[in-house]
Amino acid sequence: MQFQSTRNRQLSVSSAQAIKQGLSADSGLFVPKSIPQMTLEEIGKLAQMKYSMRAKVILSRYLTDFTEEELEHCISQAYTAEKFGSDQIAPVHKLCDGQYILELWHGPTCAFKDMALQILPHLLTASVKKTGETAQVVILVATSGDTGKAALEGFRDVAGTKIIVFYPQSGVSEIQKLQMATQDGGNVSVAAVIGNFDDAQSGVKQIFTDEACKQLMAEHGYKFSSANSINWGRLVPQIVYYFSAYADLIKSGEITLGESINIVVPTGNFGNILAAYYAYCMGLPVKRFLCASNENNVLTDFIRTGTYDKNRAFYTTISPSMDILISSNLERFLYHLSNGDDALVSSWMSELQAKGSYTVTPAVKERMQAIFSGGFADSKQAMATIGKCYQSFGYVMDTHTAVAKAVYDDYRAQTGDLTKTVIASTASPFKFNQSVLTALSGEAAVSGKDEFALLDSLQEVTGLPIPKSLAELKNKPKRFQDVWAKDDMLSAVKGFLQL
Ligand SMILES: *Cc1c(COP(=O)(O)O)cnc(C)c1O
Repeated sequence: MQFQSTRNRQLSVSSAQAIKQGLSADSGLFVPKSIPQMTLEEIGKLAQMKYSMRAKVILSRYLTDFTEEELEHCISQAYTAEKFGSDQIAPVHKLCDGQYILELWHGPTCAFKDMALQILPHLLTASVKKTGETAQVVILVATSGDTGKAALEGFRDVAGTKIIVFYPQSGVSEIQKLQMATQDGGNVSVAAVIGNFDDAQSGVKQIFTDEACKQLMAEHGYKFSSANSINWGRLVPQIVYYFSAYADLIKSGEITLGESINIVVPTGNFGNILAAYYAYCMGLPVKRFLCASNENNVLTDFIRTGTYDKNRAFYTTISPSMDILISSNLERFLYHLSNGDDALVSSWMSELQAKGSYTVTPAVKERMQAIFSGGFADSKQAMATIGKCYQSFGYVMDTHTAVAKAVYDDYRAQTGDLTKTVIASTASPFKFNQSVLTALSGEAAVSGKDEFALLDSLQEVTGLPIPKSLAELKNKPKRFQDVWAKDDMLSAVKGFLQL
């Protein structure tokens, strides 16, 4: 299977090359040349398999240049019961008749980024080897929170890699800061940057393009790479859990083979929901996708009107991982919707760059609306939904999942569509303890409490155990406390690599 750029179909590479490179040379994203198909019979067989086998079936359809042993190795390093709490990896919880929560947060950092970032380092090191590259991979990440920690956990002590994560000193939560400052591993480094997320992000971009630095790195046998969400190696593992959820529903008798379901995804960069769309294109029976946004509802408007317009106010919300105005992975969706019209996709992306907006053709809009609905829920609705779900079903959900559930409730009320529905749940409620506790017990319950007191209170109120990785933070030594000026980030990298 070859992969081609969304902006130039002539640019075609193997999957190992696509994963190693991340972004295509023309700044396009790599997409599969054709989408592999799964028959209903093949989907039915998944029901009897463990998650790791399901992963092997799906990944092997795309990563055709990987041997069976290579894939098995990558999968067995990533999806273990030790790291994900059980060998279910991504369990499905029945909320009530016809509504199922796909829990994607049982990994080491308690958020769904683990589903991809636990396996990406292994796919990447295998890809590097397969393409004849001998340099050691150095991963640079700028993070506004969840991605940095998930990347650190994924890459820690993976042979042939080093990772350095920059986060804005005053732009991440206390618990996120602690998660990174206490990171284990002999090949990791973490640095705070004085400034906001954009400062950290532009600093990383500058280092990536610094020719002198590249030269120096090469002399020492290093090569930069990135772990960000546009890498095909992060997208493809996400396709697996949609098949897995469907297989679980068959196994438990909730649906029959061939029955179409709806899928609801709390969306930011459009990676998670795009993976669901790939599953559908492969043959997963889906009736409708619901793309759920918070106040930053650029995607809701796009799906409803066909015009993408990022020129709007930016809101900081209680679902911060969805506070995004440019959803990079949308480019892949547009490519497929336009039947691979690379010139058209390029022109839209140029318009986005130049004026912050573009309008798709009526045909593309129609194809999108035939299968996608968009909706948004604000913080108030999300908070109310957390409370309501706990009262009605005894189920505790985080703020991002609550946005998805609120959008689904609206959709169902408006359309009367009673199709059985899977709602993707992207974070443990303990990760967003303050908002969740407020939703359950009111403002008074959180006032004056530090992160650990909040975790304790949430445990008392819900009777759920605090995830081990969060509970342990309290007693872990802080290894990384360096703070750097944004113009000094290169020095931090050089120091870490001893250049
Ligand atoms: C990253 C993230 C999202 C958004 O996922 P996308 O793939 O960017 O759409 C939603 N919820 C949580 C908790 C996340 O960490």
